[in-house]
Amino acid sequence: MTKFSDLNLNAKVLKAIAEAGYETPTPIQAGAIPPALEGRDVLGIAQTGTGKTASFTLPMITMLARGRARARMPRSLVLCPTRELAAQVAENFDTYAKHVKLTKALLIGGVSFKEQDTAIDKGVDVLIATPGRLLDHFERGKLILNDVKIMVVDEADRMLDMGFIPDIERIFGLTPFTRQTLFFSATMAPEIERITNTFLSNPARIEVARQATTGENITQGVVMFKGSRKDREATEKRKLLRALIDGEGDKCSNAIIFCNRKMDVDVVAKSLKKYGYDAAPIHGDLDQSQRTRTLDGFRAGDLRFLVASDVAARGLDVPAVSHVFNFDVPSHAEDYVHRIGRTGRAGRDGKAIMICVPRDEKNLADVERLVEREIPRMDNPLGADNAAEAAPAAADDTAEKPKKTRTRSRKPKQDATKPQADAPSDTDKAKADDAAKPDSARKDTSGDKKPQEKSSRSSSRSQSGKGSDNRVVGLGDHTPDFIGLSFQDRE
Ligand code: AMP
Repeated sequence: MTKFSDLNLNAKVLKAIAEAGYETPTPIQAGAIPPALEGRDVLGIAQTGTGKTASFTLPMITMLARGRARARMPRSLVLCPTRELAAQVAENFDTYAKHVKLTKALLIGGVSFKEQDTAIDKGVDVLIATPGRLLDHFERGKLILNDVKIMVVDEADRMLDMGFIPDIERIFGLTPFTRQTLFFSATMAPEIERITNTFLSNPARIEVARQATTGENITQGVVMFKGSRKDREATEKRKLLRALIDGEGDKCSNAIIFCNRKMDVDVVAKSLKKYGYDAAPIHGDLDQSQRTRTLDGFRAGDLRFLVASDVAARGLDVPAVSHVFNFDVPSHAEDYVHRIGRTGRAGRDGKAIMICVPRDEKNLADVERLVEREIPRMDNPLGADNAAEAAPAAADDTAEKPKKTRTRSRKPKQDATKPQADAPSDTDKAKADDAAKPDSARKDTSGDKKPQEKSSRSSSRSQSGKGSDNRVVGLGDHTPDFIGLSFQDRE
């Protein structure tokens, strides 16, 4: 088995690796470090969690240990799709370069230009940046890329998803043709293939897992879920999420919960908090300081549930995430690979549970096609009739406000044959009507209801009818006169 000491790394780097507690290189490290140290271009096809960050930082530190950077002319460039990933790469440099004198700067959005300008002005060996911010600095004339000797593109497939490919192509064009390129992607989409064919020169191709495969040490499952009614689906889905979390018990030490939409990230985080779960959201619309604080809290183990969007969580390295919950089936199948790659890192076991509503079944089929396996169906912990048991929407104030149900207004109709406690009965009505009548008319409220009703309802009319002394037997004295008259007339 390859050892770090077999890899020709700088002794000071080896010391830092030993202090980090790493004993053997991971496959991507064993595969990428030797050609990188030889100065070759590298195409690393590896998902996050495989140790790919060290596979480029370790040789870079070794190669940059000699030499000095000039003002505004960085000697190396690492491009990352998100601020968090860039910050993480910067941390990796801090860890592995702690015994080597190297300067670095982090150029990410949401942080003031001034501080970044100062760092660049001093001269940096390693510049870690998101593409947009790097180009902003370049356009302001603060940065010269002519001295870049090593350029790294990390998570290229995410760059593609985020529309950064034109920026990447432009940055390639701004760096010297003779630079060394280390290029990493979890998947090789045709567009990525095109970029690598254009900008990499005879790269050493290291593929540590089959394209778009998911880690074998991750137990996966999907719960098929249908809300009892459309307007209750969201509430019931959050209830299901809580049940799934509870079902994992203590095994779920911490988790990242992915939602497809930023809005849901906020709603799910708020709802979980309301139910007593230690949760916080992270997505691109939150300000950088809040994102950093949340992430630091999660890494430190102070926060148990991180509710995240794909972009914000991309490439996050939190070594001990026990679970990933996919609140939604991702709409881009590759995101599934990235999402569940947050758990089961560095050889640990992980669990990834997903909720699939009927309209996401097509996305689920895409995911299964991509990962070339069927994701096992799990039982719904709420049981088959979860919908019926679902908590009233009012219990979750992040939910849509409970609407007045039609069922309720329909109920009297359905139960029209039954007497209603709070509605007056016909007999009561007759009694009340009767009470309003003069004493002479208040007779015989018992007996057959219909004649009574008829008589009470029509008593006022009887006054306007023609008077008659003829009594109709069996209809009572108060029978309206016209009824009697009609009988008389016929006869
Ligand atoms: P990455 O794929 O770069 O995000 O790394 C995933 C995790 O693996 C990080 O937490 C690293 O600290 C860890 N790691 C990197 N290299 C090794 C190694 N050789 N042995 C054990 N853990 C490692």
